Amino acid sequence: MYDVNSKHADDFINHDEILATLAYADENKNNVSLIDSLIEKAKKRKGLSHREASVLLACQIEEKNQEIYALAEQIKKDFYGNRIVMFAPLYLSNYCVNGCTYCPYHLKNKHIARKQLTQEEIRREVIALQDMGHKRLALEAGEDPVRNTMDYYLESIKTIYSIKHKNGAIRRVNINIAATTVDDYRLLKEAGIGTYILFQETYHKESYLQLHPTGPKHDYNYHTEAMDRAMEGGIDDVGIGVLFGLDKYLYEFAGLLMHAEHLEAAFGVGPHTVSVPRLRHADDIDADSFDNGIDDDTFSKIVACIRIAVPYTGMIISTRESKKCREKVLHLGVSQISGGSRTSVGGYHEPEPDDAKSEQFDVSDTRTLDEIVQWLMKMDYIPSFCTACYREGRTGDRFMALCKSGQIQNCCHPNALMTLKEYLMDYASPETKALGDKLIEKEVLNVPNEKARAVVTENLRLIEQNNRRDFRF
Ligand code: SF4
Ligand code: SF4
Repeated sequence: MYDVNSKHADDFINHDEILATLAYADENKNNVSLIDSLIEKAKKRKGLSHREASVLLACQIEEKNQEIYALAEQIKKDFYGNRIVMFAPLYLSNYCVNGCTYCPYHLKNKHIARKQLTQEEIRREVIALQDMGHKRLALEAGEDPVRNTMDYYLESIKTIYSIKHKNGAIRRVNINIAATTVDDYRLLKEAGIGTYILFQETYHKESYLQLHPTGPKHDYNYHTEAMDRAMEGGIDDVGIGVLFGLDKYLYEFAGLLMHAEHLEAAFGVGPHTVSVPRLRHADDIDADSFDNGIDDDTFSKIVACIRIAVPYTGMIISTRESKKCREKVLHLGVSQISGGSRTSVGGYHEPEPDDAKSEQFDVSDTRTLDEIVQWLMKMDYIPSFCTACYREGRTGDRFMALCKSGQIQNCCHPNALMTLKEYLMDYASPETKALGDKLIEKEVLNVPNEKARAVVTENLRLIEQNNRRDFRF
């Protein structure tokens, strides 16, 4: 039975409740007065329930859909301003004992090159990432209890934080690894990770079991309850997501929001981020053989409805998406993007030879970080390399309280300007630097508090003239 507070996956992601939600959304997809009342409710910026948001996602009235997009855009502006936080994935190992049918790292794929980075190789990758300008990483690895052990992850995190190359530093390490135990999560927390990320892939249990026929990941309940264990282990920033294209998007959308509601109800804090990857072509995987793919318009609608339903939750898209698609969804709610990504093991230090490919999926947006930064600024976004919250102890419910009151803006905006300035000084091309300096000059006037504005102005000067780094609010 559906129970948002229950610790059992089958209760908080209850199949019957999702079916009832989909039926309710379908019945009401042309119900103008209900849709109007939901849009009004959403304007209060307190979010919507999975049932309510599902009606908006199913809505087929063009005029109302335009109102939904406009509201998502406004909420995005109110909570995140024009900042976009940058990050890069770092693949540690593609050894994996699971049989996920949509991922080239599955155990039976014998023609992919298998690699696990040594600590020395990690060092080289991190220096290459620092030389691009990255400050925030998401570690990625397959599940292999013999090779990819917790000790390996802990040592790798330590290595990454210890590398200081020129003015570079990785200041926040997020990690996306297989579901594990409360004790392991506690160790990750102690090692100083930012967010623990784990995608559900699909919330549809029957499909999940078919898509994950072998390996420990086959255990749907253990996987679905991972975030509960992570929270019990003290990780209060968790990132959820589904892989759109595996099952029907309306089902996944309802499941995703139910998961967020569950974490909020059971632990008092919802997910820190939501990721919205779409299935991509990869070695040994034909994305066309999955028939639940969604087009760009549907994808945009999903992004807008997530923004409305969980206004305080960051939203991430990766280089799986093309430049065109990213442009379309950035203003609707996305707050974090990756740039200059390599989805192979060891691809930053040295590009892979064609006959030894180890990437997880084809990257659609292949531009360099400098090109992405420039592109964002040309659209009037502020690329931000900020990692301040986790380092200032603003995590979990403390972070959420600041988000909900809007006070976080007083930190995000100045931090975006100061970290962008660091990027411009240390890594940008002359053209990007010229654009960025102009943008900073304009945006510094938008720091609302006079005292804070004076501090930011002085810090920007110190970054430029005294080679000082790492200021933060
Ligand atoms: Fe392994 Fe993850 Fe790929 Fe599944 S999705 S095969 S668990 S790396
Ligand atoms: Fe993110 Fe906190 Fe920095 Fe804002 S201040 S961009 S919420 S890390």
